[in-house]
Amino acid sequence: MDWDQLLNEATHHLQEYIRIETVNPPGNEIEGARFFKKIFDGEAIPCQIYEPSPGRGSLLATLKGDGSKRPILLLSHIDVVPVEKEGWEAPPFAGVIKDGYLYGRGTLDCKSLGIAEMMALLILKRQEVKLKRDILFFAAADEETGGRWGVQWAMENLPFLKEPEYALNEGGQIILSDNGVPDRYAVSSGQKVIFQLQLKTRGTSGHGSMPHPDNPNVKLIHGLETLTRWETPYRILPMVKEYFYKMAPKQPSYERGFFEDIEKGLNDPSFSIWLTSNPIYNAMLRNTISLTILQGGSKANVIPSDATATLDCRLIPGTDKKEFLKEIKRRLGDEIEVEVIAESDSLPPSSLDTDLYRAIQKFASENDPGCPVVPSLLPGATDSRFLRECGIITYDFCPFRVTEKESMRVHGNNERIDLENLRSGTKMLVEIIKEVAA
Ligand SMILES: [Zn+2]
Repeated sequence: MDWDQLLNEATHHLQEYIRIETVNPPGNEIEGARFFKKIFDGEAIPCQIYEPSPGRGSLLATLKGDGSKRPILLLSHIDVVPVEKEGWEAPPFAGVIKDGYLYGRGTLDCKSLGIAEMMALLILKRQEVKLKRDILFFAAADEETGGRWGVQWAMENLPFLKEPEYALNEGGQIILSDNGVPDRYAVSSGQKVIFQLQLKTRGTSGHGSMPHPDNPNVKLIHGLETLTRWETPYRILPMVKEYFYKMAPKQPSYERGFFEDIEKGLNDPSFSIWLTSNPIYNAMLRNTISLTILQGGSKANVIPSDATATLDCRLIPGTDKKEFLKEIKRRLGDEIEVEVIAESDSLPPSSLDTDLYRAIQKFASENDPGCPVVPSLLPGATDSRFLRECGIITYDFCPFRVTEKESMRVHGNNERIDLENLRSGTKMLVEIIKEVAA
């Protein structure tokens, strides 16, 4: 394989893909789907575009195997989030390369993944690799606003997409420490459950010059004060226990024992305060509540008749939603009405006892000896929830090497990717697919 040549090819494709503006809303993912179609058509890999709503296109390409094992699905999304153009060092939709980095919206989230997955199919086809599984490539619309016109639609309307045994999607990655050394392969096998609540208090409106106790704003903030002080109990999933266990050897000696048995560790008050001051660790260990919207009143001298607030709660899979809601209401008090406005199903994490997980571990031990593969619980939500709902073992794992600092550019200004990732990421995908499908 001429990997320099392949890197050039992948880079060129990624530049073109970045130049297609697929900001959602409105999305206009159909242009991204057509971009892929042209390439797959040129390589004689069968593919099809689906457009359930005008402009909201997704593309499925299939590399046929002999069918002796179930398919593997490589997922990515075509849409991207909006940009604040003024804040960018290079225009976000121009595909500019600077110092080895390609700048642009979608370079990390997640057009590069789409390109690496596509390159993997092209390479397997060109090498005429005999496959036991179909390799499905699905570039989806509408991930950034919930999947209604993308993966959710596809899983409801394309029955053959329920057949894969495995899927790989965005989410985790190979995390580099700040000096560029691989620290861990973060493979997310599960995610928190969305549970969003709308709160409302009612009261008596009146003139701001004559305060009275039935002010809805005051009642709302009193209830919220009590609720937001609630330190929800820890709920440790086996995969989270495994995560900390795998991270233990990298910790200073004092903390190592606590990481090795995280349930025990959390009984130590000073360790538990230190650990949960990290928002990512905290989110993996318990149900969380964020107060995200507060609204009450519109004029300085008018006491309003109602006030509202929105809570973005994210639950550990397996949490009893009814019990959780009961506890929320108890803490808010009788004066506040609570309504569930959005929720996702509580899905157990995907098993780690699989050929695919072992293939990732094998790749890691051969290429980055000593670097652990850790299963992480994603605090946010990705399209993977629609796949797990259908029983597909899904890992949120993008084969790129990124520092935590670089990954903070996702959804922010100056999103960029180190282009070497297109080489190493594509190589990794090809090797993993050969391991589980050839
Ligand atoms: Zn994404």
